[in-house]
Amino acid sequence: MFIYNTMSRSKEEFTTKQSNKVKLFVCGPTVYDDSHIGHGRTYIAFDCIARFLRYEGYSLFYLQNITDIDDKVIKRAQERGIDPLILAREYERRYLADMKALGVENVNLYARATEHIPEIIKQIKVLLKKGFAYETKTGVYFEEAMFPDFGNLSRRKLEDLTVHRVDLDPSKKSPGDFALWKKIDEQPSWDSPWGWGRPGWHIEDTAITEEYFGSQYDIHGGGLDLIFPHHEAEIAQMESASGLKPMVRYWMHTGFLNVQGEKMSKSRGNFITIQELLHRWDGEVFRFLVLSTHYRSPIDFCEDALIQAQNSLERIRKTLKKMDEHLENSPEDEESFQMRTKMWEESHKKFIESMKDDFNTPKAISILFEVIRNINRQLQDNNLTKSSVTEIKAILEDWEQILGINLFPPLQEHDKSGDVLEILLEVRDELREKKDWELSDKLRSRLNDLEFELEDN
Ligand code: AMP
Repeated sequence: MFIYNTMSRSKEEFTTKQSNKVKLFVCGPTVYDDSHIGHGRTYIAFDCIARFLRYEGYSLFYLQNITDIDDKVIKRAQERGIDPLILAREYERRYLADMKALGVENVNLYARATEHIPEIIKQIKVLLKKGFAYETKTGVYFEEAMFPDFGNLSRRKLEDLTVHRVDLDPSKKSPGDFALWKKIDEQPSWDSPWGWGRPGWHIEDTAITEEYFGSQYDIHGGGLDLIFPHHEAEIAQMESASGLKPMVRYWMHTGFLNVQGEKMSKSRGNFITIQELLHRWDGEVFRFLVLSTHYRSPIDFCEDALIQAQNSLERIRKTLKKMDEHLENSPEDEESFQMRTKMWEESHKKFIESMKDDFNTPKAISILFEVIRNINRQLQDNNLTKSSVTEIKAILEDWEQILGINLFPPLQEHDKSGDVLEILLEVRDELREKKDWELSDKLRSRLNDLEFELEDN
């Protein structure tokens, strides 16, 4: 298997640190608001990667952090007049529900920053002791100049690095030095050897990964925007604290989901939340759209792309439904069966090879379409035998598992709206008998809103 490593800017053969065990960490969300579909893109991509690693027989530990304390969480909580941690729990719940609706269900552990304060403090103490960090009246800072490899991942030179997400602070030795601990009195804050305060953004990830994975592990993922400064800072912290390189063997980054060429983001205001999407579209349609593009490439999001994804998925499901219906009348096996089995096996091999080539889902999906075309052809010629159908179904079930998308049409649920209407009409009759005109008229008017015309005789 080959994985594109952002560090080397090339595809590298995948080998693990420890036999068949894979440790994967992906930066999780900051839970101060609803997630948008750009977030969904990144997490769907890594969910499919996790599924494939497991399919290939790796024992995978997939870890994600939850940033439940930072400036954005605090600001939003102040605006709403509630406790920041209550706000964070609310949006964490919503995030997890969104992920479930998108079929993202392979994370082994979600680790909250606020539940790892002792680990964070421990790592900062080591950095101070080793001389990579220093304390000022405003906090504890990592001294960038102490880590000459800073900039290797983003291919920037240390001397050019002046742009950072933290505010300029005159007490710092250099503007590029970043906060490990911010001294703050107001709540929420935690006690530390440097007084009350809270962690800087980058340190929670390395404290959490060190706790569960140790100081070196296999894969670290996130969106492209996190390469600098976040992932650079993580490398600086962890490699300085442990003295071991590399912290991570493979750095994987997803391309952006864009709208008219611009990254979808909260700050640009060009976002659609996952909830908004799910009001109108099936989560699997969006998942299909996402996986139809390679995880490193940008996605140009628009309504047409969703329509196209929906049509494609319908085409696949229609063919497979036809195949199922046809099964009764399928001819028994004949000599050509062996030949056809070989053809399906060949497709399966190509599908798996595409996935092994840096998780090339669009190529894998094109092979799925090839198979669908083949099934259609054989259905037309009435030479799709029973054994052949069994064979192809087994293969497609594997592909469903890898992509996380139902390819076989979901069973039609019995539509219960007629039964509900019946009950409402009975209740309304009883209300009229009791001469409760107000309530019975209200019920009629609400049913009229739903375009049910009621006539009282
Ligand atoms: P955040 O909570 O903003 O740190 O984002 C959580 C994850 O979603 C990070 O890995 C981001 O890189 C990723 N992300 C944010 N916006 C987009 C986007 N428009 N397209 C793809 N990934 C995104």
